Amino acid sequence: MARVEELKAKAQAAIDTRRDWLIDVAKTVLHHPEPGFHERKTADLVSQKLHELGIAHDRDIALTGLKGYLTGGRLGPTVAVIGEMDSLRVPGHAYADPATGAAHACGHHCQLGMMLGAAVGLQAAGVIEHLAGRVALIAVPAEEFIDVEYRWQLHQEGTLGLMAGKQEFIRLGAFDDVDMAMMVHTTSRPDDGQFAVGGTSNGHVVKYVRFIGKAAHAGGAPHEGINALQAAMVALNALNTQRETMRDNDTIRLHGILTKGGAAVNSIPADVRYEGRVRGRSIEAIIDANMKMDRCLKAGALALGAQVHIVTIPGYLPMQNNARLMEIFKSNAAHLVGASHVKTHPSTQNRGGSTDMGDLSQIMPVIHPYTAGATGTGHGVDYVVQDYEQAVLAPAKAMAMSVIDLLVEDAAKATEVLAKSPPTMTKEQYMALQNSRFIEEIYEGK
Ligand SMILES: [Zn+2]
Ligand SMILES: [Zn+2]
Repeated sequence: MARVEELKAKAQAAIDTRRDWLIDVAKTVLHHPEPGFHERKTADLVSQKLHELGIAHDRDIALTGLKGYLTGGRLGPTVAVIGEMDSLRVPGHAYADPATGAAHACGHHCQLGMMLGAAVGLQAAGVIEHLAGRVALIAVPAEEFIDVEYRWQLHQEGTLGLMAGKQEFIRLGAFDDVDMAMMVHTTSRPDDGQFAVGGTSNGHVVKYVRFIGKAAHAGGAPHEGINALQAAMVALNALNTQRETMRDNDTIRLHGILTKGGAAVNSIPADVRYEGRVRGRSIEAIIDANMKMDRCLKAGALALGAQVHIVTIPGYLPMQNNARLMEIFKSNAAHLVGASHVKTHPSTQNRGGSTDMGDLSQIMPVIHPYTAGATGTGHGVDYVVQDYEQAVLAPAKAMAMSVIDLLVEDAAKATEVLAKSPPTMTKEQYMALQNSRFIEEIYEGK
């Protein structure tokens, strides 16, 4: 047992030695925010840093993703350490790109520092050779499911299959040689303590909707037109009437944005576009709420005699944290910050948001813990990372230490995790489920 502690101490010391280098990676990404499937500069930076660490890697997986390996002294399972590359779009954020509104309002910039930090710790002299197996270092694009119209175009031209980063990595086989995975997300919530493990998240489907009307002079002859904006407004009001039909336990969220409200103020809007989301904590609850969403969209078209094109796109599956991986991570986090600062959320506690780590959690053991270090409102203008020690270095150490626990002693713990955690579904079942959730419908409101 002494040797495990010795390896962990070496990994931590190596991460501390690279302190400024790792924090600089996170801050550089912060200052160059790029939304999903646009992360070119971010990918160049991660590639350059992997080169500096001497880690061979593949690029351009799912357009912008990267994947490298550290190889242990003996054969064994492969544990992935993941960092997400993408920003959101939050105009007005302190670090928003003025041209695009892109901003790291979800803290993903820190995840790349964490992923590289874990690599630094694990490749340290006297550590990696004692591990049995491999560490896959994965920088994955597009966790925030935004810019739906853009991604739908990429899907239709065959550039993307599934439309988010980890989903597409799964489809392309980039997780085929991975046995289990971990990542850490930043949080500003006081009830998460310094670190938090456990809990679940909502799954969802994504909606790309076009209301099609008829253009006409908005002053001279509005009666000759069909107002697609009014159709959309009826639909959105109808959606709000559904709220009392939702069960609290299903944590349904119906929300969206109008991405196009018309073309010219003096012409009756004939092409109005809506990107929406139907979230819920189980696949059945999402199916039920999605049926209501479709009903409301059609009600808008019917009221105005417009047409509505509804594209339903497979979103994320609910998150399940692996209990054994959680215990391993938790004990390492407790070692770093003290047990009283590590919170455990019960599996009944569901976060309203969603993540494509949920998709991965259906086909292999994963954890998605949280680390403090941020303040402000998640996805808001004021969400900023204040404490880079906690938001980059501490989770890098906790992940490196957890990988050591999993892969030392001929990977005994990793082998146990795999033996006792059969996945909910195979990759083939996952792909069949997700492909079945692509639905296109045109409804004539007559
Ligand atoms: Zn987010
Ligand atoms: Zn996030």
